[in-house]
Amino acid sequence: MTEPPTHPTPPWSDLHPTVEWQVNGLCNYDCTYCIQSRKYRVGMPEQEVVDRIIDGYASLPGQWEIKMSGGEPFAYHGLMKWVIPGLVERTPHLISTLTNLSAPLKVLERFCTLTGPRLRITSASLHLEYVDLEAYIDKALAYRELRRQHNPHSSFVINSVVVPGKVRQQLQVKEAIESQGLRYFPQLMKIKGGVFPYTARDRKLIERLTGGSQDPTKVNRAPSYKGLWCEAGAWYFVVDQRGEAWICRTGKRLAIKDDDEDDEAYLGNLAQGTFSLRKAGARCPYPICPCTVPANRGIVRRPGMEAPHGI
Ligand code: SF4
Ligand code: SF4
Repeated sequence: MTEPPTHPTPPWSDLHPTVEWQVNGLCNYDCTYCIQSRKYRVGMPEQEVVDRIIDGYASLPGQWEIKMSGGEPFAYHGLMKWVIPGLVERTPHLISTLTNLSAPLKVLERFCTLTGPRLRITSASLHLEYVDLEAYIDKALAYRELRRQHNPHSSFVINSVVVPGKVRQQLQVKEAIESQGLRYFPQLMKIKGGVFPYTARDRKLIERLTGGSQDPTKVNRAPSYKGLWCEAGAWYFVVDQRGEAWICRTGKRLAIKDDDEDDEAYLGNLAQGTFSLRKAGARCPYPICPCTVPANRGIVRRPGMEAPHGI
């Protein structure tokens, strides 16, 4: 079903093939700044759909990283029943997750046990509209201990949205997180396909918070990589809870906005057996790359990275 790219291995050694899988839409929070509208933050797939999507992942060439998100993946009853066992038992892939860390520690422990050496990255998002910072950090420390026991090779980062008007608060959040030896990752807030227009005062504080860094491993500024070579669609793609696949998040958003099934960003449906990868990458045609995964996995070839001859 899955047509592999013409090259059997990634074209560069620093490129890590990655899928971003929106396992379910449902979330147990309702953050005011959520990038996903309430209309899309619903739904949980049936076991059959999950199984077919995982079959599709099993036929990808080599080892990929399957990065799960939602909604909130741990709010889905199928996560521990079908998703994790299916990925571990039927694919060779690595597993990463984005989570708001609201799942009980017992569940997180089971997750760590089941994923074992396959766990790559846990990105925990901090939502101060729902949690107390001190209690959250205590839980993060308990989770770090679980990973130390079961997944010592994995990494752990705490993401926090830089909410307009509350940027100063993030300076304290950063200090509290880093003082415990945990990794803090600020994310600028996105709205309608762009970055929120922060006030001049907020922008100054953001530069203080980030030390002026543009490095996508340190801050998500949702930049534009328009014109750069990108292997999205060949070695990176995004999948929704129905198995629908697109080359990347922006490609998906614009294809859905235009209601265009023939859009070249669309890769088919993994659950329906119509999915195929692109044969190779292309120059990025989009004005925004909203998450740091394509940059941090070497999918988009930024200045200083090897790229196809003549690009
Ligand atoms: S936890 Fe994440 S997905 Fe859920 S409402 Fe908040 S920002 Fe949205
Ligand atoms: S660089 Fe462009 S094509 Fe590549 S993932 Fe980002 S937005 Fe998509």
